[in-house]
Amino acid sequence: MARRGLLTALLPLALAVTVVTTGGTAQSQVPSQSPIDVTLGSIRIDPGLPKLHVAYGHSDLELEYIRKDAASATGCTTRDHEETEEAFVTPGAAHVTLAGVRYELEQFHFHTPSEHRFAGRSDPLEMHFVHRSAEGGLLVIGVPLRAGAPSTVDKVLAHLTPECGEDVLVRDVDLDSLLPVNRATFRYNGSLTTAPFTEGVQWFLTTEKTVSPATIARFQALFTAGNARATQPLNGRTVTEAPRI
Ligand SMILES: [Zn+2]
Repeated sequence: MARRGLLTALLPLALAVTVVTTGGTAQSQVPSQSPIDVTLGSIRIDPGLPKLHVAYGHSDLELEYIRKDAASATGCTTRDHEETEEAFVTPGAAHVTLAGVRYELEQFHFHTPSEHRFAGRSDPLEMHFVHRSAEGGLLVIGVPLRAGAPSTVDKVLAHLTPECGEDVLVRDVDLDSLLPVNRATFRYNGSLTTAPFTEGVQWFLTTEKTVSPATIARFQALFTAGNARATQPLNGRTVTEAPRI
């Protein structure tokens, strides 16, 4: 595909970035951006990783259209590729704990097609659960969505909020049921996939969850040109597979 060809062409440039030394400490200037293509050669298995404790309860959701083109005269009808449908959860309704640090779930949102790839393969949708610690640390759980049996995701996306339109209230969502039953994860260090592309984000990628074909079609009808960032070079990063979270 043309895009993958372009990425391959850009890779040597990215790797050529120099490593500078500051005060005796080597600091890599090589970008660590997201999303990535999880290739077989990049995976290391580590059953000894700290467990990710997931404590997701029930919450009402406020589904909101996130605008990135508010200055444009046609912004209400133009789908900027960084825009999305974002579900805000009730503060305190859900959190995760990793190595003794608690990260509160702030919101989750959707991309089409999936942003992360696995050995080059993408899925129709991907959910991102964005968590933040009291110190500002970011931890994101990414869940690929495939066409299949209906799930709680269908309830969340039953009514999409239009750009410049009213928010949609979704009552009493079982947040834990949005995650797959199989909780094996791929973990790596990356970035936000929209501006300002902040690095230092801890990524946890799960196995896929299913959603009805009708819901996928409804979301893709809103974002006809997609709202996913292209995969970014690994630049020597490894992806660690943990059998369970
Ligand atoms: Zn995202």
